[in-house]
Amino acid sequence: MRRPLIAGNWKMHMTLADARALIKDIDQRLGQLDGTSDVDVLICPPFTLLFPIAKAVADSPIMFGAQDVHEESQGAFTGEVSVEMLKDTGCTHVIVGHSERRQLFGEKNDRFARKVRAVTGAGLTVIYCVGETLADREGGKTRQVVDRQMSEVIGPDVPADRLVVAYEPVWAIGTGKTATADQAQEVHGWIRGNLASTFDQATADRIRILYGGSVKPVNAAELLGQGDIDGALVGGACLVSEDFTAIIAAAAARQLA
Ligand code: PEP
Repeated sequence: MRRPLIAGNWKMHMTLADARALIKDIDQRLGQLDGTSDVDVLICPPFTLLFPIAKAVADSPIMFGAQDVHEESQGAFTGEVSVEMLKDTGCTHVIVGHSERRQLFGEKNDRFARKVRAVTGAGLTVIYCVGETLADREGGKTRQVVDRQMSEVIGPDVPADRLVVAYEPVWAIGTGKTATADQAQEVHGWIRGNLASTFDQATADRIRILYGGSVKPVNAAELLGQGDIDGALVGGACLVSEDFTAIIAAAAARQLA
């Protein structure tokens, strides 16, 4: 069975003081839950918090990662951060291809392909995000869009053991609308099929595919109960320790069941 991963994307939220308080609270709550040692827990704060967060999580099981990276190793790229700089912080994961990067910053698959290789080439794990817009879904193009986001970015040269995929329907991110468990499972199945064509079935069966899009304590158990949903990428709910740990608890309960 794939070990679940619950990842929190803090986006552009949290000062240092807020971050320390949140981590302390999450850590205390995790200590009171059964089965959380069977779940990987990751937080992805803004770049400025990575160094202090390395210290704040040092004695806890919480891992930390970055929300983005530049594809080049160094150079005249004002405002950007390279993967080697991220490695300096001790972080283990990097999110690439988040829909906000696609929609608000105009980044495209060719760039994500380079970022994925920069991250995995440096020995870090990439969480590569895919997902359709509402217009895509209503136009019956979900499979086509997601397949393209996968095949234009993920090739057999990407180390599969450093790859996590996150399916995040754009219409469900930060909107309070969640894909039904059946809708999410259907797309996760397609993504696993795509991974099997790129790698092979045994490799595809090892890669974790997270669901993201308004995951909350109230819907986490049902989503995580689906065969191809191996965890969650959580936005809003990860900023509230009670909610984030309740989602982790749902993943732990699945493992204990
Ligand atoms: C996200 O930003 O990746 C996300 C899933 O956000 P939310 O949980 O708020 O929909």
